[in-house]
Parts: sequence; structure tokens; C-alpha cells
Amino acid sequence: MDLRLYNNRTRQLESFEPQDDQRVTMYVCGPTVYNYVHIGNARPPVVFGVLANLLRRHYARLVYARNITDVDDKINHAARELGVPISVITDKYAAAYHDDMARLGVAPPDVVPYATAHIPHIVAMIERLIDSGHAYVAEGHVLFSVASFPDYGKLSRRDPDEMLAGARVEVAPYKRDAGDFVLWKPSTPDLPGWDSPWGVGRPGWHIECSAMAEAHLGDTIDIHGGGVDLQFPHHENEVAQSTCAHGGQVFARFWLHNGMLNLGGAKMSKSVGNVSLVHDLLDQHPPEALRYALLSAHYRQPLDWSEGLIEQCIRTLDRLYGTLRDLADVPVIEPQVPFEVESALCDDLNTPAALAELARIAGEARKATSPIARASLKAELLGGGQLLGLLQQDPAAWFSRGSVDGDDLRIQGLVNERDAAKRARDFIRADAIRRQLAGEGVLLEDTAQGVRWRRG
Ligand SMILES: [Zn+2]
Repeated sequence: MDLRLYNNRTRQLESFEPQDDQRVTMYVCGPTVYNYVHIGNARPPVVFGVLANLLRRHYARLVYARNITDVDDKINHAARELGVPISVITDKYAAAYHDDMARLGVAPPDVVPYATAHIPHIVAMIERLIDSGHAYVAEGHVLFSVASFPDYGKLSRRDPDEMLAGARVEVAPYKRDAGDFVLWKPSTPDLPGWDSPWGVGRPGWHIECSAMAEAHLGDTIDIHGGGVDLQFPHHENEVAQSTCAHGGQVFARFWLHNGMLNLGGAKMSKSVGNVSLVHDLLDQHPPEALRYALLSAHYRQPLDWSEGLIEQCIRTLDRLYGTLRDLADVPVIEPQVPFEVESALCDDLNTPAALAELARIAGEARKATSPIARASLKAELLGGGQLLGLLQQDPAAWFSRGSVDGDDLRIQGLVNERDAAKRARDFIRADAIRRQLAGEGVLLEDTAQGVRWRRG
């Protein structure tokens, strides 16, 4: 089935063909872990997670990376307020993020790279940018020279004046151009720092994603996703760094940007007071209803987030699970992805159309009387649901609301995170999680089917 995606690089709906159909690559910008994330930050992992499910059906292998930014001035600030090392903050909120995403039904990506585990890679990339004349050293900082990359501004279609306004650039005397951005900055002894050819310092945010994408996915990646709020300056800077570090090669062939969440009509961002933390919402509502709500609008459109929307999604899921409960006498069958659900998703990830299709199938199932029709409609409901990350609970668990063991989900989230850390060869993090779980009496067992856990 032809997969068509709206490519923000070309501003066109295009047929997606990977560079190598044996190894499709996708990178999505993950959170900066200094606090619990707000619900707007859950939209990219949910929608690009559905895209990952779809790509895995179409191609032999997908390598999907979603990073964790674990060094940042906001993290430093949070650590200083509490008088603790930054790892106390980042361990806590990275774990909470993985846990919250697991509760939202987001399958873990193949690679979860942490910025602080990639410092040598970041330094090497910066050195290449300096050597090729795209970056310069000034007063302990390394800056990217925007003037050295004539395509700067192309992704976000901005002219230089707009860019300066949009980036709220820091005016600094050592910058050649006001728009030049930091690749490396010096650290004082009270701040986290690493040795580098330019003294003890820490990386800028943008270079982390370029270096981690290169380390895990290669020079040119098939798909880069993220919120449209990151398009400028973050993604524009990623393009500049990676393209220049790779001798002009295309960085990301497809750029996909999700729209923002509107909460009570106001744009949701960290700077306004109307923040709804995923962590809190998950305690107040059935997680699957939040997931359904995040998929209820097309990913490129803004999504009006409200209590009313969540209530409506709960009622829709009640109907779908009610249908599955009525089909309980149908013997266990192999889930089948309905053609219409898959073709809706292949049409630029049209999740509203795919959800409407699930509702139509459920309606047919409620009317069906023949055992063959009931069995095939149940298989389609479960198969379509699987692709969307929905309808995989026992109907009884859905209707029991909240009596599901939340601690089991938390442990599963940690197990998933450890698994991802191991695959990213971040053995320090993987061991830390194993020790944490062991401390709670949870035993892990590596089996051919993956990691199993049990309480000791
Ligand atoms: Zn990024």
C-alpha cells in the first residue's frame, strides 16, 4: 500500500520511499527532563508511535530513535534549587516520562539516546564543523556560523529578520552574526561540564540531536519528526549542523511536524499557566481515553484539548469495548488490520478517518449474527486497534476503570526503559534501573521473548 506523507521540507504530500527498505530510519525529538511533561509533549510520541507501527508493517526493519535531553540550563536550574546533582533531576523525570508514555500505550522506540552519553560524539561533530569553516571558537564558546550555510532558513521558510525575532537570540559580543547559535558553551565548576578542546563545558541543545541522529541512524535519515514549535530554531539548526558536518548531504529526507494543542483556546506552552501535566491527567482519566483524544485530530492540525473531548473519547471507547465484550464468545482469533484503517493511515496518517473506520466496524459487529461475520469483525477491531495502540485491554479491565494495578504499569515502564537503554549501549542507565527494581524486590529475567519480570 502506498504510504503518502506530507513532507514539510518540500511542503508537499509525497509518496514515502525509504533510502534503504531493509533499514528505515526515523528520529523524533524527545523531552528535556527537568519536570513532568505537559500533554502537548505527548502528541509527538503518540502520533509518531503510530507511524512507527505502520512502518514496521511495511518494512523489514525500522530503527526509530527518540532522545532524552538530560543536560540543559533548565535542568541545571532545577538541580540548583534543590541542591542536588543534575542526575537526580534527570533520572527522576526521564523515568517518569517513560512510565507516562507506557501508560499512554506508546511502544518504546528502538533507541532512546541520552545526550550526556554522547559527549565524545558531539565534540567530534563540532570539531568537524570547525575544520570545515562552519563553526568558530570565541571566548570559550563554539558557535555555528549561519552565514556559512546559504540554505539556512529554508526548512522554516523564514527570512533572516524573522529568524532573529523568532529565536529571541541572545546578543553576545563574541558572535560574528547575531543569528549564530551555540554548539558548545563553557561551564563554571558549579555547572555540569565535560573536557573538550575548548575547555570544560557543555553542549548546546541543537547539536545533541544532530550528533545522536548521526550516531544511531547515519548521515541521512528517512524521517525526522517533532512538534511544529520546534521547526525554528531547533530543527533549522539541526539541518544546518548535520548538512554541513556531512559535506552537504541531505539530513532528513522527510520532515514531519505535528500541530500544537490548544487548551481552552490558548496555545499550550510551558510559558503559560494552563499547563496540564500528563502525569496528573493519567491519574484523573483512563489513559486509553487520553491516547484516543490525542489521535482524534489529524496530527498536522491543532487539537483543542478539553475535559469535554476526554469525556467524549471515554464514551466512544465504552462503545468499542462494549462491542468487544459482546463478542467475548467469539473464539480467540488472529487480529486482522482492516484495509480501510490501513489506507487511512497511509494517507498522511489520517487517524480521525482510521478511528471512524473502527467505529463503523464496531457498528457492523453489533448487528452481525453469523459466527463467521462476528469472528471476522472482531479480528478487524482488534487488528485496527493494535495498529493505533487501542482496544488491547480486556473489556473487563476497561470497564473496571482505575482498578488496574498502576504499579505494574510503572514497573513495565522501567523494564521497557532498561531494554531501550541496553540497546542504546547505555549500560550505566540499564544497570541503574536493574538496581532500582532489585531494591524494590522486582526480579528481571532475560528470555528469548524479551525481558520478563516478577516480584521476588
Ligand atoms: Zn531535536
